[in-house]
Amino acid sequence: MRITGKARARIARARRGRPNLGRNTIQKRKVLCPLCEVPVRSLARTGVGDEVVMSNLDTYQVVMFEFDDGSAHQTVMCKECSTGMTDDDAEAVYMANLAEFEQIENNGGGEAPWHLYESREITKFFKE
Ligand SMILES: [Zn+2]
Repeated sequence: MRITGKARARIARARRGRPNLGRNTIQKRKVLCPLCEVPVRSLARTGVGDEVVMSNLDTYQVVMFEFDDGSAHQTVMCKECSTGMTDDDAEAVYMANLAEFEQIENNGGGEAPWHLYESREITKFFKE
């Protein structure tokens, strides 16, 4: 299933004043905070030959969102943005995640359940 018009509209609303939201959060060598674009994960050497793995940086913070339909969603952002996050910021992070899901889907990475994602509203968020 391709992204729905309703999900697209909700992402577009969140991008007002945040035009890059969710456009380059996930990169080949690093993952950025969806709000401030500070790196939160990066490729690092393991010390075993040339082996590299994606590693969490000191900025890394896991945040849990709970929704009005009883579902939940775990995401990653930077510690600073996760502190004192407003409802508007939380919606922006969730919309950045939906934009990422669309990119993944467009790249052949599996279908997202848009009919669930497009309508659920965040009721609570907290650091994990
Ligand atoms: Zn941030």
